Amino acid sequence: MKQTTIKSSVEIKGIGLHTGKESRIIISPAPADTGIVFNFADKDSLKVNVDSMIISTNRGTILAHNGYSIYTVEHILSALNGLEIDNAEIMLEGEEIPSCDGSAKAFVEKLKDAGIEILGKARNIIQLPEPIWIFNGDKGIFALPSDRLSIYYAIEFPWIGKQWIFYEHSPSRYEQEIAPARTFGFEEEIEMLMTEGLAKGGSFLNSIIVGRNGYSSPLRYPDEFVRHKLLDLMGDIYLLGRRINATIFVVKGGHNLHVELVKRIKEVINDR
Ligand SMILES: [Zn+2]
Repeated sequence: MKQTTIKSSVEIKGIGLHTGKESRIIISPAPADTGIVFNFADKDSLKVNVDSMIISTNRGTILAHNGYSIYTVEHILSALNGLEIDNAEIMLEGEEIPSCDGSAKAFVEKLKDAGIEILGKARNIIQLPEPIWIFNGDKGIFALPSDRLSIYYAIEFPWIGKQWIFYEHSPSRYEQEIAPARTFGFEEEIEMLMTEGLAKGGSFLNSIIVGRNGYSSPLRYPDEFVRHKLLDLMGDIYLLGRRINATIFVVKGGHNLHVELVKRIKEVINDR
């Protein structure tokens, strides 16, 4: 399989979920072996890989470098990983990737509008040399070597209950079954985040609010919550800087656990 990029540049504007500020990104084609690179309007750039500083929180994944921070990188990275785009440059104006509708749908649509270009160089997909697991109380993540990417994900939350999914990756399945699943938050948690100065851009338009009386909008899938968790994992795992083949099991996961797995994978492949 050859590496890919997009055929032309695309622009996406919107409000950041946490900062509440308007921002704009322009995603452009990049040559083979570039990976995914963020460029700032004043020319500083940041290559996406686990060596850039990653700050994971329960509410999102932040990349930091040279005094710059980029909030909420996981959904755009998820779209790029899901569509198997190996190389792209993302020019960011602002501090946070636009949240759009809280899913990766808008990114997928724009990237597909741009078209996918096949480059002349072979892909270098990460193959796990051995299983890796991380357990933290009743939460856990477990990755096994495989010749393809598949993910089992299970969650349990108040007012949602248990949801689980098995996903065998392909770009068309990603586009149809995962990309449209939206971010969610809980009523009380959102009030708390807002007092901490987060979720400033959070609204019914870019997330599902879950509370005692149900959900703030009709669901796109009955199990939309676990699909969104899987969407986040597809983004966080792309912090490896290239695609991976593995069978990954996650129980009650989140950005912290995803990023811990990414760091452990990086250690294991660097050791060889
Ligand atoms: Zn998310």
